[in-house]
Order: sequence, then structure tokens, then C-alpha cells
Amino acid sequence: MENSAVNRNNHPCFNAGVKGQFGRVHLPVAPACNVKCNFCNRKYDCVNESRPGVTSTVLSPEQSITYLDKVLAMEPRISVAGIAGPGDPFANAEQTMETLRLIRSRHPKLILCLASNGLNLAPYVAELAELDVSHVTVTVNGVDPEVSAKVYSWVRDGKIVYRGLQAGQLLLNRQLEAIAALKAYNITVKINTIVIPGINDHHITAIAEKMQSLGVDLLNCMAMFPNAGTPFADVIEPSKMEIAAIRRKAEKYLPQMRHCTRCRADAVGLLDDDRTDEMRGCLSACASTPNTPAADRPNVAVASREGVLVNMHLGEAESFQIWTRKDGKYEMVGERIAPKQGGGMKRWISLARSLNDCKAVLVNGVGEKPFEILQQSGLEPITMSGFIESGLEAVYNGRSTNDLKGRRTSCAAGGCSGLGGSCM
Ligand code: SF4
Ligand code: SF4
Repeated sequence: MENSAVNRNNHPCFNAGVKGQFGRVHLPVAPACNVKCNFCNRKYDCVNESRPGVTSTVLSPEQSITYLDKVLAMEPRISVAGIAGPGDPFANAEQTMETLRLIRSRHPKLILCLASNGLNLAPYVAELAELDVSHVTVTVNGVDPEVSAKVYSWVRDGKIVYRGLQAGQLLLNRQLEAIAALKAYNITVKINTIVIPGINDHHITAIAEKMQSLGVDLLNCMAMFPNAGTPFADVIEPSKMEIAAIRRKAEKYLPQMRHCTRCRADAVGLLDDDRTDEMRGCLSACASTPNTPAADRPNVAVASREGVLVNMHLGEAESFQIWTRKDGKYEMVGERIAPKQGGGMKRWISLARSLNDCKAVLVNGVGEKPFEILQQSGLEPITMSGFIESGLEAVYNGRSTNDLKGRRTSCAAGGCSGLGGSCM
């Protein structure tokens, strides 16, 4: 559907000629990811559309609308609302689609934009077109599964995790399907390609050629930034000259984007006049008040070492698994990095914000103070031991969890100060 109210030429990333007149806001409503890029450290924002930085505050769809209203009041030159993580929009498809629906009903003239790895994009293309989402970016790092197998540690499709060639082939098939569908609906498509020396830097023109054959509009070759703690931490970032040479070759097939500023998943403002820092307080305020009502908390967070048992204290968990119930079955839909130790109460406030789509958190132990902070935010800490599934059944069926408590741990018994250090 083409909505004549939206002027799709006013997107500053797709049209460099308007980057001094129009800006964008990224709404961070998509925390989970369904692939693992070997250059990505999930403590940071999605590298697809952001430069590495601290984890963004996550907003619920409703909170993102409150935030968007405030951003538009402060910066009327914003012409684009986009979703670019901090994970993948379609690993969080419900939140993404709800956010787009809310924006479209409230701000009919805004350009809607998305950035995705493409794995789970195709099923949503028809509705995206219906909502007049006019610009979509897909990150394609290889058009040969042998190359992709080196870029991704794993690709998760529902409950099945693929690795190696199978992962590369699945992701490629899904990306090609999604891009063809987007073009069939006349949606403008940009490809982001992360240039990784020794992995895919010899392969960029092949990507450009294949994408041209699908009718893609623009290619954005981005230098990989080496992130500490990732398999590609020691890969040397390509130089500006190397990227320039790669772009010249790829330009035979597709127009090149040369003004990308590698924005965060919560970026706001014009590309040359970024106002992200200015809006940070407003973003946090929107994320914390009012509390997300229980009806908007479909998930349960779990502190588990291996994904079977609830066997970690709140304070020792470096990440929380996110589980949900779909069609009567429980499934893990993502993982959320916990705020790092230290920082006193702020650690628990941040945790409450990052789990603001969860109604409960299943832990093996929790201190008094964090218990209070999480509970006040609308997230019920449940102390238990045993199988995750037993805890989930109790939470989703409104059953008492007393019989799951097992042995009281020193932490649950009050040994943890709750002042931000680990319980251990
Ligand atoms: Fe990280 Fe984005 Fe890759 Fe997901 S798609 S692993 S968030 S860089
Ligand atoms: Fe535009 Fe690049 Fe920023 Fe995305 S990361 S909003 S393409 S400038």
C-alpha cells in the first residue's frame, strides 16, 4: 500500500541530499536476537545498525510511543521512526509489529524503517507493506553458505539451533526470500554488509551482484569493529582506504551509502546533529514510568546455568534466559545480559528495566533489597530450585510456588546485601 501522506524521499540514510534537513529516531523495543554474529558482543548494541556502546534501555511498545511523542515535540525535523535492535526486530516480532501499528495510527506521516538480519522477516512483509513501512535494511554478510558459516556461531529457528553450513544456508535462504518479498511490495531495501578481513572481504562484489539481481536499492559496506570477548576480537578493523576500494568495486552493481554514522539502537536527531545524549534522561524516564502493566509482560526471566534448572542466584547470573508460553508450550525466546556487578541499587533498577517485558524472574536466591526493587517495578522475583518448566507452569497458571522452594540458600535467607555485588 502506498500512502501518499508519507514522503519516502525524506529519509536521511537513503537520501544523502536531505541529511541536513531530516532526522531519525530509533526505538529500542527489540532486545532479543535469533542469530549470533561472531563480531557481536550482546553487552553492546546491535552492530548491524549501531556502533558499540552500553546496552540500550529497552522500551515496551507503549513506552516507545510516549517516548516518540516527546522526541517529536523536541525535534520536529525527525521524519523517520526506526527499529534497529538492540537485538533483531523479528526475534521480537510481537513487540516490533505492535510498535509499528501504534506509530502508524498516531503519526501517519512518519516514515517507518527497520533493520533486520532477515532470518524471520519474510512472514511479516505483507503486514509491513500494509502499515506503509517504506524502508528496510537487511544485513547480508555472505551469499555463499561457506562464507556465512564463518560469520555466525549459530542461527536459531524456533527451538532449533543450527551451526556451520546449515546455519549459513538457512539464513541465506531466508534473507533471499525476505528481500524478494520486500521488493515485490515496492519497499526500498538497503543491504548492510559488515566487511570482515579474512572472512568476507573478498566476497563483497559477489554480495553486491546478487543483491542487484533482487532489485535492492542501496548497499552500505561497513567496517567490522572488533569487540572484546568475541571470536573476531583480534581481527583488525578494515581501514578507510580498504573500505573505499571495496565500495568502488561494489558500485558497479549497486549505489553505495557513504554517509552512515553507525548509530546506536536508541539514536535520535539528524545524522550530523545527533541528540541521543540529550534525550537519554527522557528515554530512561519513559522506560521506568509508569510500570509496564502485567498484561504487557508476556515473558518470564530465568537464572539458569544450562537452560534446564533454576540454579543461579539473582546476583551471580551474568544473563537471564527469557521464556514465554506460546500455544500452551514453553519456549526460550532470548537471552538478556544482566547489568554488571557493582553500582549499588542502580544495578537492580537497570535489571528491572531490561526485564520490563517479564512478569516474573525465577532465581535460586535473591537479597532483600533487589527483591523489593524488582517487585516494585512489576517484576515478581520467585525463589525456587528444580526444573524451569515447573516454575513456568506455576507462574503462568497462577499457582503457588511454595512447593518449589527447596532448600533455602544463604542468599535467599538474607545473606545478600543487595547492594550490587554478586550474591556469591
Ligand atoms: Fe548481534 Fe545484531 Fe548479529 Fe544479533 S544480528 S548477533 S544483535 S550484530
Ligand atoms: Fe542511517 Fe546508518 Fe544510522 Fe542506520 S546506522 S540510521 S543507516 S546512518
